[in-house]
Amino acid sequence: MAKDEMWHGIPRKDIPWFPTVDADTCIGCTLCYTTCGRGVYEMQDNKAVPVNAMSCMVGCSTCGTVCPVQAITFPDRDLVWKLEREHKIFKIVRQEATEKMAKQDALKARAVAEDTVAKLTTRVRFEIAGEFGDKRFLVQMEELVKDRPYDFVHLNLEVPTVKGALEKTPSFMSFEVTSTEQEDIQEFLPAVRELIRRNGLTLVSESKQ
Ligand code: SF4
Ligand code: SF4
Repeated sequence: MAKDEMWHGIPRKDIPWFPTVDADTCIGCTLCYTTCGRGVYEMQDNKAVPVNAMSCMVGCSTCGTVCPVQAITFPDRDLVWKLEREHKIFKIVRQEATEKMAKQDALKARAVAEDTVAKLTTRVRFEIAGEFGDKRFLVQMEELVKDRPYDFVHLNLEVPTVKGALEKTPSFMSFEVTSTEQEDIQEFLPAVRELIRRNGLTLVSESKQ
């Protein structure tokens, strides 16, 4: 535990809340050692020893509850209640609660925002095949995105042979449709499909990236 750690405004070092193990009763089952998430215990000679006693969470008594032989004891709960009253901790507790709620709200809002972005389709890859020769397909693509918040990227045209292209041998093209403003592009996709259809090309695949 950090030396200056506080518990709702009270220095932790001033709060004598920690487990005490009766070594004669302890059977070394290690349950307290494995249960405590605060690293309070070490096992020494098959006995649980609370070596970091002040790391114990004030008010927690979980290890005492689970110990099969009741070897672990704690101070009386009155000790904690008395400290709460004497130090008037509830003003600080309310402030801490307000901050915690604000943090939780921010995390929730962030999760919602991330979920919304994840649901957006902002990039779709198309693979098409057919004869591109004299159809000015690229020019039509350019016209389609002109003055719209979309773009075609990663264009890749595979032409088997130049002579083949002249003889109208089918070629293969892939490209991705994106939004220049990271918006959902679903609305734009029918226009892309229509462009492909209008040019007599075959839509091989369409996949969200
Ligand atoms: S849970 Fe009890 S018996 Fe088991 S190691 Fe801890 S103190 Fe010992
Ligand atoms: S009471 Fe809780 S925090 Fe403290 S030693 Fe036991 S399990 Fe760990």
